[in-house]
Amino acid sequence: MSSNGYVLQRGFSPINGEPFVVIMTMKSSNKKTGNMIQVWILHEDVNPVDAIKTGLDQTICGDCPHRLRLHSDGKLHRTCYVNAGQAPLSIWRTYKKGLYPDINNCVNLDALLSGRHIRWGAYGDPSVIDPSIVKSFNEKSEGHTGYTHQWRHAFCDAFIGVFQASCDSFGDYLEASSKGWKCFSVVNKGDTNVANIGKLCPTEVPNSQAKCQSCTLCDGSKTDIFIPAHGTGGKLVSYVSQDVHELSELLFN
Ligand code: SF4
Repeated sequence: MSSNGYVLQRGFSPINGEPFVVIMTMKSSNKKTGNMIQVWILHEDVNPVDAIKTGLDQTICGDCPHRLRLHSDGKLHRTCYVNAGQAPLSIWRTYKKGLYPDINNCVNLDALLSGRHIRWGAYGDPSVIDPSIVKSFNEKSEGHTGYTHQWRHAFCDAFIGVFQASCDSFGDYLEASSKGWKCFSVVNKGDTNVANIGKLCPTEVPNSQAKCQSCTLCDGSKTDIFIPAHGTGGKLVSYVSQDVHELSELLFN
């Protein structure tokens, strides 16, 4: 019998040793991605909203600069585009009710993934997932996208060529590129460096009908992509441009 979602993995975070769970949901109405299979990485024991408040989202987000943290205005801001109180919380609660079967009990994984596209990391950083699971699922599917902010860490190296390195500055881009990553960069509008950092995401072209499902340029192997900052991410980019050194201290110390 088919299900709305499945548990792919339970494990312990390579970042802080806390337990996490990986859940795959089969349908999406996300206009930007299209109807891709969505993969959610969640703290197993603490709901996503409380995990953010307590800092336990580090388990599944690592040192992503979009987590809740102190900014240069002296206030706490979270610049992640995902509202953890919506889909992530709902999926976590459904998981806790035991309503997602283990994928290993799935009748036919090949049929489940055939012709489908996978979005690794609808919430959470997919680099904590067992690389052999990602590899085998990608081989069975039609295509995938994925992004990681953990590209500076050795445990993440297995995903070079599989996920895009998320970059929030030109310096990030240069560093990640030198390690062999294809990058997904968020840039300031009017940034003079953009000509050097890849291809504009086609969804940013006026009147574009592009969706990740049909594009899949962000599969870690094809090219560097950039997107102009808007919404909450824009705050971070302007902040990065103001003081890269201060940001580095906040992130890595
Ligand atoms: S470049 Fe393609 S896959 Fe990447 S975010 Fe844009 S539409 Fe999605």
